[in-house]
Order: sequence, then C-alpha cells, then structure tokens
Amino acid sequence: MPKPRARPVLAVLARLVDARLAAATFIAFALGLGIGLLLAPEEQEPPGATALPPLPPVADRPVASLRPPPAPAPPPPAVTAPRPPAAAALRPPPVREGGEGAPWRRFAVAPAPRNGKPAVAVIIDDMGLDRRRSAQAMALPGPLTLSFLPYAEQLDRQTAAARAAGHELMLHLPMEAESSKVSPGPNALTTTLGPGEILSRLHWNLDRFSGYVGVNNHMGSRFTADAGAMRIVLGELDHRGLLFVDSRTSSRSAGQALAKELGMPQAARDVFLDNVLVSDRVEAQLAELERIARAHGQAIGIGHPHDATLAALAQWIPSLPARGLVLQPVSALVAAATPRHAQR
Ligand SMILES: [Zn+2]
Repeated sequence: MPKPRARPVLAVLARLVDARLAAATFIAFALGLGIGLLLAPEEQEPPGATALPPLPPVADRPVASLRPPPAPAPPPPAVTAPRPPAAAALRPPPVREGGEGAPWRRFAVAPAPRNGKPAVAVIIDDMGLDRRRSAQAMALPGPLTLSFLPYAEQLDRQTAAARAAGHELMLHLPMEAESSKVSPGPNALTTTLGPGEILSRLHWNLDRFSGYVGVNNHMGSRFTADAGAMRIVLGELDHRGLLFVDSRTSSRSAGQALAKELGMPQAARDVFLDNVLVSDRVEAQLAELERIARAHGQAIGIGHPHDATLAALAQWIPSLPARGLVLQPVSALVAAATPRHAQR
C-alpha cells in the first residue's frame, strides 16, 4: 500500500524526539539515584538491588520502564497466586526444630544460658544478595541472627545453609525510604499503596522462604513512620506468630510502639554496627553495643555483610565469654523482654 511521503519523515522525527526524551529521563534518573545513594541517611541500598528483575505481580513501579530488561530467570513459584494469610504458616518448614508454638518460638535457636550475664544479639541483614559475603557471615561463630532479603535468589538453599551453621533466621522486609531516590528493591511496601495492596505485597514477601522467627525492616524510614500502614503489617505478623524487630531507620518509626500496643513479640535495634565501613569504627560500635548491654541487661546490634563488619565480628565474637557477655539469637532477647502472656 503506497504511503504519503511526509509520513516516514514525521515518524523518524518523532522517534528521534522520543529517544532524546527517554535518554534525558534516564540520565536524570541515574543522577538522582546516585545522589540519593550518597545522601541516604539510613542503611545503604544493597548492591545490585536496582538491577534485579522485577518479579512482583502487584502494582507497577514508576521506575520500572527505565530499568534494563529483566534477565531470563525462571519466575519464582506461586507469584501469580498469592496464598491466603494463614497458608504460609501451615507450610512444612525446610528445617524442623524441636520447639512448639508460634514460628517465633518454633524456629528459635536454643540460646546459651545467661547465668546473670548481659546478653548481646547481632543481626546481619541485607543477607542473600552478595552470595560470597553472605556465606562468610554464615561461617562466623554464632549464633548470629541472619536476616535475608526476600528478593534474593536461591533462598531455600541459602537459608538452609545459614540454619545448618547454627544461626537464627529472619526476613528482611523491604519498605519505602524517606528519600524517593533510594530504592528498597522490588515489591517493597510503600505508603502510596492501599491496605489491600500492602497486604498482598506483604504476603508475597513473607512467602519467599520459611523457617524464620520474624521480620525486621529494610530501609523504611518513610513507611515505618506511617502508623496506619505499619498497623496493617504488624497485625499480619502478629497473626502469623512472627516477632518484629524495628531496625529504627527513622527516629519517627511507629513500629515498636505499635508492636507493643498489639502485645506481640518485639524489640528494636540499639546500635547500627557499620554505618561507617572502617574496622575501627565498627569496633567502636561493638563497644557501644557492649556498654548498652551492661547498662540494660541486653542489646541488639545490626550489621551488614561487609568486609569491615565481618572482620570485626570474627575478632569480637570469640572474645565475648572472657569479657562476661553472652551472644544470643535475637529471639532470646525478645523472649526476655516479652510479657509471659504474650508468649504464645
Ligand atoms: Zn537492609
């Protein structure tokens, strides 16, 4: 069919304009992301998070079209058919413990006795993306509490290895940061979602693996400050018998207060171990963790699978008994702080 001459010219022009617009948008986005990462006041975005293939079945993300096309990976099972809330709790766990009751007790690692000594718990989160350093964290003496990102790959294999090495498992739930320029990763909980969608995304995240005692937030300085949104999340965690550790990426987080109000098992981070990735700064933060534990009986530190953190922990953990401290999994600190009536 013959076409008017003007049309191909116009089409070429339109394509050029489109390409320039797309390139300008992409550059602006990349610059914004870079600046956001530099300025992010809370924990850093894990390496590679933005390059992951978008898996979720739920609402589109504004930056999705600017991402590189997804790598050809097989979709995870059950993504398109979210289970009802109670189903995951009924699924047989990959690692069975002798414990009874709710998951936060059933999957808990048996703690060493305190004998009146102060206790420290160390959560290493952002687990699962950097496979080499995640494996190095698993190789540390424990029990540590290892919190895995739900969008990491081969989670069943990785979490089984962590559990077999004697560590306790948590799920590191991605939540919206205050700065829109940092991405918590695919399928994160955001304050712009309706209640149904928050639950739907929460179910997707909670069903990535099992055998964990509870959840702590990944980023989330904006989301955790939204009491209405947090009430939905904590209600579901409580319903599933999971504990919540508030990472406290924002001083305005409503997480711990709401969890207390719900009477669910909960705790909050006392010290971030590696906001500065230099060994002596990590050692100073470990000293601060000890100080709080001696003052209050127990303390929770959160670190990440970075070289400086892993090296400092490798030195610090074996030295604890001589200094009169006991390393326990986080569930033991939560249990010690939870009223008996809430210990289902
Ligand atoms: Zn994190």
